[in-house]
Amino acid sequence: MRANINRRQFIKALGLGAGALMLGGCAGRGKLNSGKSSSKKPNFVIIFCDDMGYGDLGCYGHPTIRTPNLDQMAAEGQKWTNFYVGASVCTPSRAALLTGRLPIRSGMCSDKRRVLFPDSASGLPQGEVTIAEGLKAKGYVTACVGKWHLGHLPQYLPTNNGFDSYFGIPYSNDMDRVGGDGRQAFLEPKTEYWNVPLMRDEEIVERPADQNTITKRYAEEGVKFIKKSKNKPFFLYLANSLPHVPLFVSENFRNKSLRGLYGDVIEEIDWGVGQILQTLRREGLAENTFVVFTSDNGPWLIFNEHGGSAGLLREGKGCTFEGGMREPCIMWWPGTIKPGVMNDMGATMDLYTTILTLAGTKVPDDRIVDGLDLSPALFGTGPSPRKVMFYYRGAKLYAARKGLYKAHFITKPAYGKGKEVRHNPPLLYHLGHDPSEKYNISKDHPEVIKDIQKEVALHLANLTPGEDQLARRIEKKG
Ligand code: MG
Repeated sequence: MRANINRRQFIKALGLGAGALMLGGCAGRGKLNSGKSSSKKPNFVIIFCDDMGYGDLGCYGHPTIRTPNLDQMAAEGQKWTNFYVGASVCTPSRAALLTGRLPIRSGMCSDKRRVLFPDSASGLPQGEVTIAEGLKAKGYVTACVGKWHLGHLPQYLPTNNGFDSYFGIPYSNDMDRVGGDGRQAFLEPKTEYWNVPLMRDEEIVERPADQNTITKRYAEEGVKFIKKSKNKPFFLYLANSLPHVPLFVSENFRNKSLRGLYGDVIEEIDWGVGQILQTLRREGLAENTFVVFTSDNGPWLIFNEHGGSAGLLREGKGCTFEGGMREPCIMWWPGTIKPGVMNDMGATMDLYTTILTLAGTKVPDDRIVDGLDLSPALFGTGPSPRKVMFYYRGAKLYAARKGLYKAHFITKPAYGKGKEVRHNPPLLYHLGHDPSEKYNISKDHPEVIKDIQKEVALHLANLTPGEDQLARRIEKKG
């Protein structure tokens, strides 16, 4: 069931056999350079958000949230409009990004508990190979800044998953609640209501974490890491812990956005992105650094104004409609990525395969990796290789997309007591004509349903679910 070599063996094997570079999709790219033409390995920066929706950025159509830095990043790079995450909630989504695999394979999803909690006893299994571990094997320096949520016990922290350093909170910013009244605590949040620890490497350095300044401090930490690492290839994973509720913002951004507190938070995140990109430019690193900006799952709609917006997509966090799993994604690498709007499909798992391939390191071949190399789409040499997307809720497959068609086999309200509904025939939507999933066309297209069912059968035939890592709790003493 588990991968049969552990990560250290994998890294060792790579270190010994460091050979052929596997830079893909670079031929015939006209004026664009690429990592291949440079003797230097490219740097990688992934900027993640928590619970930001498809419609929350200026460049994705939000009418009142200002995101000038992200808008510029999108204009200089690629703005993806069909980009997916591996799950509609935090922990499994992050596992998918960092391992390139659907969370069902690693066991980082569950029908019992949807994410990890402060009383969880487990985390990302040792046998998984993270992006950071793959890059370390090629001599990269690696830093994780921000929310982790793949296990808070020492053996599961970033420093045991390929990151040289860590600065951030180990799980969500609404956990360890110690104060405030019911839902009101979220609507008028005070940082002391949540006893969330802020960690440096494996030590707690502040508790409760001052969440008002946390976005600012993450950006500053990222800038510091880039400046310090500029003479080596580096990987920065900057995972903002906001705009997950409760919302917090530093003084410079408070009461500035027409969208209210949620807008203030996004505008501060945008500022942080500006700091990172400006640093890369000033240090002369921009043309050798691939930067990606996206989020872990859709907006948490049950928090009304404190949750974001999925724009024209249906629903949000916690469910398998598009609003739960399709995210804004901006890719930036001046002179290398072909600028434009990208309508092809991509997924966070593909970042894994793309980044490891660009770094000239091997994608593990002793297990199924779901990620695909997006190089052709990035460099303008061909379409994205991703044609199919599977939508899991916990350990169950709820829906599948092939091309522009999406079939829902099961649906369930994102939160609350609503029951699971099985659909036979499945609900079918054409996401090109009907991105909001309003008009079920299953009756008119039995052949499309059959085709998607064939993909699903193939997928399930090769699936070995990993052991549930989310259900186990720390045993209480006494
Ligand atoms: Mg999230």
